[in-house]
Amino acid sequence: SPESSTTDYSAIVQNAYTQFKNDKRGDVADYIPALAKYSPDNYAIVIATVDGKIFSAGNKDALFPLESLTKVFTLALVMEQQGQKQTLNKLGANATGLPFNSGLAVELRPERPQNPLVNAGAISSVSLLNAKTPDAKWQQIIGNLNAFADNQLHVNQEVYQSESETNQHNQALALLMQSYGRLYSNPREAVDLYTRQCSVDASTLDLAKMGATIANHGQSPYSGKRLIAEENVPKILAEMAIAGLYDGSGQWLYNVGIPAKSGVGGGIFAVVPGKYAVAVYSPPLDKEGNSVRAQEAIEYIAHATQANVFR
Ligand code: GLN
Repeated sequence: SPESSTTDYSAIVQNAYTQFKNDKRGDVADYIPALAKYSPDNYAIVIATVDGKIFSAGNKDALFPLESLTKVFTLALVMEQQGQKQTLNKLGANATGLPFNSGLAVELRPERPQNPLVNAGAISSVSLLNAKTPDAKWQQIIGNLNAFADNQLHVNQEVYQSESETNQHNQALALLMQSYGRLYSNPREAVDLYTRQCSVDASTLDLAKMGATIANHGQSPYSGKRLIAEENVPKILAEMAIAGLYDGSGQWLYNVGIPAKSGVGGGIFAVVPGKYAVAVYSPPLDKEGNSVRAQEAIEYIAHATQANVFR
């Protein structure tokens, strides 16, 4: 296809990989004890084009917990179920300017929702899922993630247990949201489903494929299935632009100009609509909780492919 024959993705990925390989800045997340065990040297880059091609460097198959990366895909599912209007009314689309797990952000504007990519909004997203039992909700969540990855993903039990034992702050956020009428199910159930979704393992390849489905206007380039209504895709990307890198989102957009989402496991994926998605895995994080090397590698790739959506 014209897309992958006019751009030398293979050389670009290789160059990005080598250029940042020795950058050791950042710290592996340890507030979830099981995450502290991941090597800071883990590093992989995958570009997945909308025409189904894959370009990679590093160990594209190594598994890591998706953590907050899952928020995007569950948001997509909620939007399919609730529609754009309800999603905006209930979950919001404004930056908080505060860290991803901020309770202060909820307190500052209790009358208005924040956005579905910070913890409070993501727990609220999960609480909106349209199924009767927690198990049925879980089947929707994991089934949806699997469909985006075109693969069978699994919960990392060690991470799930570790995060369940240490997620008091998220439990508090859920109760706070409930007190303001912004949680739509039992708070314990919502936090448990949220925690389980965060603990799902995927590879950099899986993540790039998940992103490529968004880049391909919501239709999987692999299975051919439509996973997001085409008109919902710009809304999902807008949420990513607003809050995908939390309080680092504005600077990211200024520097790079493509919507992206991070997770504290060290993954980031970015979407260039109609062209490709790029996923990078490298556990050391900056103070906002975004992988340092992943940001650098994606910035390099975005420049090399002239991907800035504002240009
Ligand atoms: N599960 C993590 C949490 O709730 C996700 C945070 C993240 O990836 N930014 O803290």
